[in-house]
Amino acid sequence: METTPLYLPEDMRRPKEAERQEPAGSRLSGSLFRSLAPGLFKRPTKRMLAVMLVALMAMGGLAGYGVWRYLYQQDRQFFDPIDDPANAALVAEFQDFLESNYVIYFDARELLTPGGSHRRVGSSGYGLNRLPPRHLWEGMLASLFVIEELRERFGGELNIVSGYRAPLYNAAIGGARRSQHMRYTAFDVAPKSRKAEDVAKLHKILLTMRDEEQLFVGGLGKYDTWVHIDTREKNANW
Ligand SMILES: [Zn+2]
Repeated sequence: METTPLYLPEDMRRPKEAERQEPAGSRLSGSLFRSLAPGLFKRPTKRMLAVMLVALMAMGGLAGYGVWRYLYQQDRQFFDPIDDPANAALVAEFQDFLESNYVIYFDARELLTPGGSHRRVGSSGYGLNRLPPRHLWEGMLASLFVIEELRERFGGELNIVSGYRAPLYNAAIGGARRSQHMRYTAFDVAPKSRKAEDVAKLHKILLTMRDEEQLFVGGLGKYDTWVHIDTREKNANW
């Protein structure tokens, strides 16, 4: 009895005549493949077609949801009350207010920042902040003059990471129940570098201004990447 030799040709590029006539290797691998995946060689049953259809619909649905969510976030991510056309007149008036008070370093966009949580999709305070109402502007000037002087002494760019907080927004982000931010008398100010040494420098300048020079009375808080300053009626530290 003759058995089919089980081997793979050494030279695959130039198979010998005998191998071409009797492709034992390919026949073997073909049957092996068939036995491993029999379904691929049969006509698809109705059940298989149904499963494939459901899988395709699920994939399409997921892709559609991804696209929708992306577009939705794009739309909301850049929402800032200062860009709302309904607020244009108020913002222009605020700019005049800053000019008439000789504000040098901070502009309306910075001073009217809604804060990081307002901008961050998925945050508890997302989209909830508002512009500070007009009757709070005058009361903000004392704190503004402090951060203007802080900017002058620090000598480097500063970012306001939180200013006015609407009560609803303050509650949503877990702010203090009687936060000075709701009165627009508080600012959270970060050095552009966000470095601890610069934050320490800012805090030291503010302590000097308040405790040694008595330039203002209020609260000072030091955080990882920013300092909080407000002009409440008595001093507070944290
Ligand atoms: Zn603060």
